[in-house]
Amino acid sequence: MIRANTPIPVAGPWITEREIEYVSEAARTAWFKDHYTFNARFEKAFSEYVGVKPAVSLPHCTAAIHLSLAAGGIGPGDEVIVPDVTWIASVAPVVYVGATPIFADIKKDTWCIDPSSVKAAITDRTKAIIGVDLYGSMADWVELRRIADQHGLLLVEDSAEALGSEYAGKKAGALGDTGVFSFHGSKTVTTGEGGMLVTNDDHLHQRVMALRDHGRPPGDKLFLNTEIGFKYKMSALQAAFGLAQIERADELIFRKREIFRWYKEELENVDGISLNAEPQGTRNSYWMVTIIVDPLIGMDKFSLMDALGKRNIDTRPFFSPLSTLPAFSDYPHSSAHMPERPVGIEISKYGVNLPSGYHVDRETVEIVAGALKEILAEAR
Ligand SMILES: *Cc1c(COP(=O)(O)O)cnc(C)c1O
Repeated sequence: MIRANTPIPVAGPWITEREIEYVSEAARTAWFKDHYTFNARFEKAFSEYVGVKPAVSLPHCTAAIHLSLAAGGIGPGDEVIVPDVTWIASVAPVVYVGATPIFADIKKDTWCIDPSSVKAAITDRTKAIIGVDLYGSMADWVELRRIADQHGLLLVEDSAEALGSEYAGKKAGALGDTGVFSFHGSKTVTTGEGGMLVTNDDHLHQRVMALRDHGRPPGDKLFLNTEIGFKYKMSALQAAFGLAQIERADELIFRKREIFRWYKEELENVDGISLNAEPQGTRNSYWMVTIIVDPLIGMDKFSLMDALGKRNIDTRPFFSPLSTLPAFSDYPHSSAHMPERPVGIEISKYGVNLPSGYHVDRETVEIVAGALKEILAEAR
């Protein structure tokens, strides 16, 4: 039986001396008048990388989504169309602002929100769409933009999992009215915990800046708060870490793509497995290498994870549809117009994220792929 000698984690960062030096420098210098120096450098480098100005550093991506909706004036009585299959952080902020999430289906190839399902979900209460670039895949942004413009909706691009992916020559995060990113320890670029919001929209930017600092307009030195806001800031230590990481973005994304290529070489000829897609006109930064197993093999994601776990290989389940989770059982309206979400419900039963962190080398991939082939052969 193929089994890893030491446990293989599912995710993990790539840290160099550069990160450690910058954080040490921040610990010594980023105080008083220099308290924002590293944040400003990180924001500038980040906005140059994504191609959207300005960028605002935040404590996490959840805050970036919350601020996008609050700055866009979304509130009680409004509906926000979201993909049914995503991490809950994409959707919880809809509830924070008092609006109702409406679940749309995802597409079979990219696993991102399906524009035709979005269209079917629109009512006269719809105020925004949150598209998610899932596992590094790009959503159908031309179509989402067309729908948003036609109905006057705010378009939020959740690129937490897609830093460095591209769509029609633009970087992930550059396709919505706001683009939001996460630097959680599992993500492509990390600061431990952290987030970023980018927008070209002046009005949204001004609102974000006031709302993220307890309702202080930018430049306020007299503590004359003009409204009740939130407190969403990234520390200088995290920003120093993030600056080092974003300076290394090309190297990080190159490695992510290499890890995917290794898995693809091992798995593409295995019957009954499909991998992340990279449709024409897109570039996938492959945050998590993900397999969907053919239902005919008769192994759902949890039994596959269990079998891999016994061989010392850690994995994650494909996100379960939010509409099926206890957390949303009190939101029947969220599924009411959209009783049918067959694609997400089916795919999410059979999807597993394989070890995709920066610790993964060619040999790790051979062990994981070998174990997977054995397990599926036994199940057939
Ligand atoms: C990680 C993630 C988030 C949330 O990021 P945090 O920094 O943990 O708040 C949001 N959306 C998606 C799709 C994510 O994967």
